[in-house]
Amino acid sequence: MKLVSRSAWGARAYRLPNGATPYSRTRRGVKLHYLGTAYTDRAHDTCDDYVRQIQAQHMDGNGWSDIGYSFVVCTHGYVYEGRGLYRRNSANGNTTLNEQDYAVLLMVGSSGLTKPTDAQLNGARDAIEYCREKGPAGTWLGGHRDGYATSCPGDPIYAWVKAGAPRPSAPQEEDPLAGMTKQDIYDAVWKTDQVAAPDTAPDRKTNTNWQPQSYLKDIGNRVRSLTVTVAAQSAAIHALAEKVGSGVDTNTVVAAVEKAIADAVVKVDIDVTQNQES
Ligand SMILES: [Zn+2]
Ligand SMILES: [Zn+2]
Repeated sequence: MKLVSRSAWGARAYRLPNGATPYSRTRRGVKLHYLGTAYTDRAHDTCDDYVRQIQAQHMDGNGWSDIGYSFVVCTHGYVYEGRGLYRRNSANGNTTLNEQDYAVLLMVGSSGLTKPTDAQLNGARDAIEYCREKGPAGTWLGGHRDGYATSCPGDPIYAWVKAGAPRPSAPQEEDPLAGMTKQDIYDAVWKTDQVAAPDTAPDRKTNTNWQPQSYLKDIGNRVRSLTVTVAAQSAAIHALAEKVGSGVDTNTVVAAVEKAIADAVVKVDIDVTQNQES
């Protein structure tokens, strides 16, 4: 989590005694808020200016003892410590509601920038998990509008938090084969391989009904042919080994090997011929 401590963002000291009021029990969960005013995105090095401005508005305008929120999340995913984990917030509407849940503000407006960024959703998720683990807080999630008459936190954030505040997923690479049948893929390969593939396919040039499947069948035939050839050569070599020790002359051995290979070639021819498509 990209946590920005109060000293790091230049928070003013909170007023005593109310600013130091602790929570009296474990929080039920986390409520989200938005600014409820116009907001435009800004460079991150000016985000802390805005957080200080919110604090000034709450302390000088509303007369509160500190910024009202527990945490504030900017569009760049940084989490600014407001009242933090242990001091009761003053943003949820009344003391009972403040006591019940943490208050996390997403710096998003009711006009201008109205949808949180992915970095901001990740930051808000970080803040929620931080509250749960260190607060501690329960798993309840909602918005300012839950149990209080307000449009806060706006529809986009409210829909997100009620969906369980999921982390945004990384954009998926589009699968180029999505939705294609095997037939589509054969055809696509054939269309792009017209120069490279055809000469290896039997009867490609004379058979106008030649299909890409013929090429695959041809490959199958070649594999079977190789199997036959290897078996024949293996047998010939085996025979050679037996005869080396028995005084048979070289010509006899060579003739035996040539005959075995010739037999294999005949088998290959037959195999291809019998499996050719008409
Ligand atoms: Zn609110
Ligand atoms: Zn920022």
